[in-house]
Amino acid sequence: DKLTVNILNHEYDVHIGQETYGLFATHYAELFKSVDRIAIIADERVAALHLPLLQDSLEYTGLDVAVKHIPSGERSKTSEVYVDCLSFLLSKGFTRNSLLIAFGGGACGDLTGFVAATFMRGIRFIQCPTTILAHDSAVGGKTAINMPDGKNMVGSFHQPTAVLFDTTLFETLPPREVRSGMAELLKHAFISDEKWTNELLSTKSFAKPTIEWLSKELLLGIQVKANIVAEDEFEQSTRKYLNFGHTFGHAIEAACGFGKLSHGESIMIGMAYSLILSERHGSIDKNVTNQFIQFAQENGYTFGPVHMYSFQLLMDFMMKDKKASFGKLNFALLHTIGNPYIKEITQSECKDAFDELVKRTG
Ligand code: NAD
Ligand code: ZN
Repeated sequence: DKLTVNILNHEYDVHIGQETYGLFATHYAELFKSVDRIAIIADERVAALHLPLLQDSLEYTGLDVAVKHIPSGERSKTSEVYVDCLSFLLSKGFTRNSLLIAFGGGACGDLTGFVAATFMRGIRFIQCPTTILAHDSAVGGKTAINMPDGKNMVGSFHQPTAVLFDTTLFETLPPREVRSGMAELLKHAFISDEKWTNELLSTKSFAKPTIEWLSKELLLGIQVKANIVAEDEFEQSTRKYLNFGHTFGHAIEAACGFGKLSHGESIMIGMAYSLILSERHGSIDKNVTNQFIQFAQENGYTFGPVHMYSFQLLMDFMMKDKKASFGKLNFALLHTIGNPYIKEITQSECKDAFDELVKRTG
């Protein structure tokens, strides 16, 4: 299956399914004729499991394919690893006609994208995402690394040339990474479609999805993201809806210390919080939120951190978030499921919603 992301001057295809890397030979032969060198920037854990699959699919090009291993997961999104990648490319004689391939989850994609955005003022790159969560991160062109002060503090917009998702790689994903990605899928449903959201919330094996079912669902999620970024590439308006659950979710993620809770597990808590705010400022029914919380708990998501940290600590993290400007907090909320909007929320309203979340998840 495939869809096209129609961003002005940057149109590209996203392929998803089993054995999609075969498309390098059938669909992308022309592209590789204009490339002098390839570097695979590979998450070391993913490389240990799956690298030959990707290497074999590129052999036909006859090109020199260098492999740069990077630390697995979030540990790769540092300035040190970033500079290390640039030095690697320079030492191998890479040019403006070279191409990078990101092989890993969202962290690897964000890092590789930022390297591609800045090496020689910008070269092409292909995303070969390997996590469920990356159906979100691999599409849309946001790239970044972290700074000691916070996540994604340095980065740029740089769209990939193509995105190739091989869903067979999901078989080796640990359960918490499955939960992480599924939360982001649910987010795409919440901000776009009530019927689909209810379907997901009644899926029995939500946290243990089959590969076939997942391919179809992820395509829907990618379509939501693709439509939004096509409309608002630089997050001036509707792209902000994608932050549903993220303002509070990021605060939880930061309070726990990055990596303790996966990104999506934190966002699940953030979505419960945003639903509570949406009861007060939109027309979300209390039952919707309560069912959601129950669904999350049944599927292995935790609300533990809500009971571990003070409101003030979480508030401090929220104010540090990139999305806070001039001391104001803007949340993506829902009028109804499928109808998101942006609303400024005061600190005291935030506190009330927090107390309510504590009460309902106790
Ligand atoms: P990740 O890239 O950190 O990977 C999580 C873990 O899973 C790592 O240990 C990795 O080695 C392992 N892994 C990856 N694929 C595997 C596989 N197939 N089998 C076994 N193990 C595998 O996590 P993620 O959730 O994919 O990405 C999170 C990152 O994405 C965060 O840094 C976040 O900021 C970023 N993100 C970016 C955007 C964007 O628009 N650019 C959107 C959402 C998230
Ligand atoms: Zn997210």
